[in-house]
Amino acid sequence: MSESFQYKGQRRRLVEGLRIKGITDEAVLDAIGNVPRHRFLESSFSKFAYKDQAFPIGSGQTISQPFTVAYQSQLLKVQRHDKILEVGTGSGYQAAVLLELGAQVYTIERHKSLYNKVQQFLPELGYHPRFFFGDGYQGLPTYGPFDKIIVTAAAPHIPEKLKEQLKVGGLMVIPVGPYERQKMTVVKRISENRYDIKIHGDFVFVPMLKGTDI
Ligand code: SAH
Repeated sequence: MSESFQYKGQRRRLVEGLRIKGITDEAVLDAIGNVPRHRFLESSFSKFAYKDQAFPIGSGQTISQPFTVAYQSQLLKVQRHDKILEVGTGSGYQAAVLLELGAQVYTIERHKSLYNKVQQFLPELGYHPRFFFGDGYQGLPTYGPFDKIIVTAAAPHIPEKLKEQLKVGGLMVIPVGPYERQKMTVVKRISENRYDIKIHGDFVFVPMLKGTDI
């Protein structure tokens, strides 16, 4: 059996597992079914790539668990051509899933070595988000406003600058809370000055840190 064929089978089983865990958005399931997650891991981990687990990607950071990526992507209600800001590029896996969903992705990473690595690697797989090195707390004011914002690190509070960079009618999905555990939170901008906030289940992310790390 060819290696890629084997991975395809594993990926199909991962998607079925996500369905059982409650992911219902078919477009999200298809996107996860299309992204070669084994390519995002160090080769020593690649045989575990389709387990529903987070893995280290270097610099003390992780590639999120597929369930978490699917859950956040589902809450984001991605439409084709949505302009999406992602905070925390990391391995680039979440960005690849958003691109599979037809979004235009702007992704920002504060860790220089991860930024350098992913900027080289993702285009090799055919994924072309716009990459930025910087502090996600600031967002990307010159490129906003965005239809959607997704934060993939644990935020102690909802950053004001990110709220300001949402379009009216736009959504932000962000894990909010202390180091040990965060609540997945959906912020909808309903008018210039009003936001509706909905709280979902518990997750554990690596912390959203201030400033950049070179
Ligand atoms: N979306 C990633 C998840 C990576 S883990 C993936 O699919 O693999 C979270 C990432 O957020 C880490 O790479 C970390 O360096 C980054 N991060 C943490 N605080 C940040 C900030 N303030 N601005 C930008 N990136 C940040």
